[in-house]
Amino acid sequence: MSDPIMTLDGVVKRFDPRLSLGDRIAAAIGGDVETRSVQAVRDVTLAIGKGETLGLVGESGCGKSTLGRIAAGIMKPTAGTVRLAGAPVMDAAGGKLTTRIQTVFQDPFASLNPRITIGETLAEGPIAHGLVTPAKARDYAAQWLDLVGLDPSYASRYPHQFSGGQRQRVAIARALAMQPEVLVCDEPVASLDVSIQAQIVNLLLKLKRELGLTYLFISHDLGVVRHISERVAIMYLGRIVELGPTLSVYETPQHPYTQALLASVPRLVTSDADLAEFKPIAGEIPSPLAPPTGCAFHTRCPHAGPRCAVEQPGLVAPMPGRLAACHLLAGGVGKAA
Ligand code: SF4
Repeated sequence: MSDPIMTLDGVVKRFDPRLSLGDRIAAAIGGDVETRSVQAVRDVTLAIGKGETLGLVGESGCGKSTLGRIAAGIMKPTAGTVRLAGAPVMDAAGGKLTTRIQTVFQDPFASLNPRITIGETLAEGPIAHGLVTPAKARDYAAQWLDLVGLDPSYASRYPHQFSGGQRQRVAIARALAMQPEVLVCDEPVASLDVSIQAQIVNLLLKLKRELGLTYLFISHDLGVVRHISERVAIMYLGRIVELGPTLSVYETPQHPYTQALLASVPRLVTSDADLAEFKPIAGEIPSPLAPPTGCAFHTRCPHAGPRCAVEQPGLVAPMPGRLAACHLLAGGVGKAA
């Protein structure tokens, strides 16, 4: 990894239930009211190198989008810090301190204001932050549309006049118009057709090369992450369970969850061997309201032993450049400590 540009240190995010007065009274007298917190992100420490693409992968509900929002400075962590080039990205009250991190979301239609033109959408942030004057805003917007492969004349159109892929290009242009160093891409191709997905992924690769960007690329799609990321972090129930160079992790996964995730990818079946390799992960991801004790994966893990249910495994380095959190890699699963 190159020198880190972004660091996340001990990041925790809990969502406490909002109880009405009636709920609080009911809870006080022993009524059936949900009072537990959702533990969305649990003690995540990560660094992203300058110019790197770090893929963040996991099933729905694993906390990866919450972690992405915290990394982007648009959600305050319950504990821990996020820094960009050594400086905090958020103040104590949760206010974002930098425009150098921008976000591209899954649904470009929802993230674009339908009442203003694309040109206005692209210019409003840069004008507000002094990156361009109103007099030059039109040319400025055109420049970013051109960079993402859209005709600059489209600046006068509204979001509903674009296809899904074009809207995602607009969303990328809007993020780039803020001249960021880091782009947090949260499932940016998940809502697009497969052929359009490839175009957007290739556009992101081109932009990274041309602008020297750093990406945190969040996806549940292992194929897309393999294509775009230099390193990959695997997340399960709020924790990073494996981290390393993408090809190395895909070829020799060390954590049983990573192994199960890779074996569960649907592929074209042309032989009995292909069919034998395809194994959906057993069970469902447990509720983050009540994560299992010990290793959170122990309720689904084919290798779980007594130690797994009571002791949380820490990240260890099973091989150079790799980290994984599993007792199999550090003393075995046989006995609780
Ligand atoms: Fe499976 Fe135990 Fe390793 Fe968790 S610690 S992944 S339950 S073997």
